[in-house]
Amino acid sequence: MPNAEINTGLVFDIVRYMIEDGPGIRTCVFFKGCPLRCKWCSNALGLEPWDEIAYINNKCLKCHDCLAVCSKHALSKDDQGHVQIDYTKCNKCGDCVQVCESAALQVIGKKYSVDELMKIVDRDRVFYRREGGGVTVTGGEILMQAGFVYKFLKKCQESYISTAIETSAYGQWNMLEPILRVTDFIFIDLKHVDSKIHFDLTGVSNELILQNIQATSAFCLDNPTDFIIRIPVVTGLNDDLSELVKTAKFLQKLQGVKPEVNLLPYHPYGINKYCWVGKNYELQSVVPPSGEHLQNLSSLFIEKGLKCTVGGSEVSSFQLNKL
Ligand code: SF4
Ligand code: SF4
Repeated sequence: MPNAEINTGLVFDIVRYMIEDGPGIRTCVFFKGCPLRCKWCSNALGLEPWDEIAYINNKCLKCHDCLAVCSKHALSKDDQGHVQIDYTKCNKCGDCVQVCESAALQVIGKKYSVDELMKIVDRDRVFYRREGGGVTVTGGEILMQAGFVYKFLKKCQESYISTAIETSAYGQWNMLEPILRVTDFIFIDLKHVDSKIHFDLTGVSNELILQNIQATSAFCLDNPTDFIIRIPVVTGLNDDLSELVKTAKFLQKLQGVKPEVNLLPYHPYGINKYCWVGKNYELQSVVPPSGEHLQNLSSLFIEKGLKCTVGGSEVSSFQLNKL
């Protein structure tokens, strides 16, 4: 369910000096909460639309001060002295976080107002101007907090800071369209063009996403904006050539602006974060796709007349003179 709160946004990370998710040097703001459950997701901390207590085991000193302060008896220790959290008992009071000197226990998710976020992103204004960078909002899924995201991006643009969004486009068009109006670079993820397979891989079907991609293509015709479709390439799950031919045909037939395609090879980074918040990671034995396979997939899109690059920062068509 989208969060109707528009005065504050729940954020689980803010990363400065990023060189992906848009041109130049960027500050990426990660919004918490996502309606999809992609099997390969590397952002386990962004899945739930609420704050969470995380236990980062390699920071733990095994002092066990935390166990003594938990009034809900939600904490215990295992045979190796690592702390276990019983999330069915934890009320997220944060008392354990306060006593943990090594920051092994942390609250994931913090509310910010637009002004508070602006103060943070404004610190790197000099880098944005020099490198054609700016702010990227991502997640999680930004459409879960569409009202606040719109207000934040609008304020960025009013402050002459370039904006980029990264979204699954799994939300109503009337939430996405206002955001597009305050966005300079649009990244939409497309995990699979077949709805049933999309459901198996992500937990949701893709009709809404395909409709929004079509609508965004038309939108960009009237409102020139860089438009990039990102396709995660996950070995054995969505990297079949014949299936990606269908994706290329779908994009080729869009009635408005033809997006550039960006292939994102699967990587296993972020797996360890699942256990920080008591979740399991399903894809234990998937290996990243080979360079040769990625080039073959890239050729499929290029043959259909689409620009296609491999990797998160390899987009070729950025217009760097917008501001
Ligand atoms: S207080 Fe922190 S360092 Fe000490 S046992 Fe608990 S989690 Fe580990
Ligand atoms: S947040 Fe509060 S209830 Fe939850 S484990 Fe820590 S002390 Fe216990």
